[in-house]
Amino acid sequence: MPALQRLARPFRSARTWIGLGVLAPIGMLAASSMMLLDLRQDAWEKAEQTSKNLLQVLERDIARNVEMYDLSIQAAVDNLRTPGLAEVTPELRQLVLFDRAATARDMGVMIVIDESGGIIADIDAVPPRKGNYADREYFQVHKARAGVGLYIGHPIISRLTGERMLPFSRRINKPDGTFGGVVLGSVKLSYFTRLFSQITLGQEGAINLYLRDGTRVMRQPFVEADIGANIASAPTFQGFIRQHSGSFVHTSVRDGIERHYAFTRVGDLPLILNVALSTDEIEAEWRVKALVIGGIVLVLCSLTIALSLLFGRELRRREAMQGELERLSLTDALTRLPNRRAFEDTGARAWEGARRNGQPLSLLIVDADHFKRFNDRYGHQVGDEVLQGLARCLSASVHRPDDLVCRVGGEEFAILLPDTDQAGALRIAKKVHAEVATLAIGSAGIGAGAVTVSIGLAAIVSGGTEVSALADLYHLADAALYEAKAGGRNQTCCARLKSAQPEAQTRKLQLVGAS
Ligand code: GH3
Ligand code: MG
Ligand code: MG
Repeated sequence: MPALQRLARPFRSARTWIGLGVLAPIGMLAASSMMLLDLRQDAWEKAEQTSKNLLQVLERDIARNVEMYDLSIQAAVDNLRTPGLAEVTPELRQLVLFDRAATARDMGVMIVIDESGGIIADIDAVPPRKGNYADREYFQVHKARAGVGLYIGHPIISRLTGERMLPFSRRINKPDGTFGGVVLGSVKLSYFTRLFSQITLGQEGAINLYLRDGTRVMRQPFVEADIGANIASAPTFQGFIRQHSGSFVHTSVRDGIERHYAFTRVGDLPLILNVALSTDEIEAEWRVKALVIGGIVLVLCSLTIALSLLFGRELRRREAMQGELERLSLTDALTRLPNRRAFEDTGARAWEGARRNGQPLSLLIVDADHFKRFNDRYGHQVGDEVLQGLARCLSASVHRPDDLVCRVGGEEFAILLPDTDQAGALRIAKKVHAEVATLAIGSAGIGAGAVTVSIGLAAIVSGGTEVSALADLYHLADAALYEAKAGGRNQTCCARLKSAQPEAQTRKLQLVGAS
């Protein structure tokens, strides 16, 4: 139980509650911030996963189609070696050279070009359409070098159909290994447009397909000028060619928008595919949540903190008010001296201290002589001024911090002197008479010496028996005061107490003159 009480003690303090009132919202703020950061992390992970899944689906589709077209091109290259092919009819030759797959929807043209660039077989026409391709990039590449394998050229506009195509080509070798022409199978760019358009990536998202040299083959959303543009020097593209696949965040050089780029090579082909999501859009949903939750938490926390601080201020105001009331309840309004209540409180403590430590304690009761006459002659207000003057005189007569001067009645004051014996108290009494003798109220025509006081003095004597409480000391001092009045006023009388010494067994009043 005592341990529990010890634990509960801090919670009784207003400071603890104000502290908690401020700390709790800060804790709440920290917890909500962590939660919001977690939600943000989730949004990014979701975007990363979505990009990866999309890349995988697109990459597989493109790789599978390219493989299929390449098989058709390879078949045509192989079939060219069929014995007696030159002697058969053009229709039969076409059947031997090209397989059905090459007529798929997205296949553009498939033609066999001889070593001088002329068309010798055309999947769509017998006899083949006319044209010369010796100037085409892919033709030059294969002519210059054997062993290129499948070559994917830059996007071109077909001379046969006028459509945008991506040319795939393989070299034809003559039996002696020299250049014998090219088989070209082109894929319509509309294949990529259709493939990419099925996917929505927000207002600022994009899908791009590049050749390894940085040439853009297709972009979704489609802008004509983007096709064929080379971005090899852009930092984003540098990022794409560093690894087979991966992701990073970068600002686009094309439009200055910051995006999350997920990229991958398409199979083993010299093609790079990327899915780019705007970071703004990745965080858009989270941002709304963060604004709403953060706003609510912030308002609640601010309210709690403000209320706690207000509560604290109000508490301090009340404490100050209570202190002031307490002070006022112990102060005499006219003279600003401690009043009778204060005298009793402080006196009781001084009494206890003196008894415990065996120290002397003296009490002077000071009463204005014939004060009624001042009131009658000069009026109550002047009487008040005299009382204020007396308070000043009494205060000026004591010097120790523990000495206590109080107004205990109308024109009656008490001076409590801890650690002061009778001789010391008598010196203070003399000082009081001397100070009062200087008191004058010029405005009322009261000159110095007109006001006098009588003083009753009582002191605890070591080993004394008849004083067992402060009240007893007060009565003795009061009786001494009565004697001083009876003795002609303007003087001090001491109450002589019975002490343990046999020679001091009788109670006797000692008269001390004011001068
Ligand atoms: P004594 O020498 O025997 O003490 O005569 P006294 O006139 O001083 O004593 P008494 O008890 O007859 O009268 C005290 C007077 O003090 C009565 C009262 O009007 C006056 N008095 C008490 N309190 C106040 C006060 O606050 N202001 C003023 N102006 N007078 C007060
Ligand atoms: Mg009096
Ligand atoms: Mg009196």
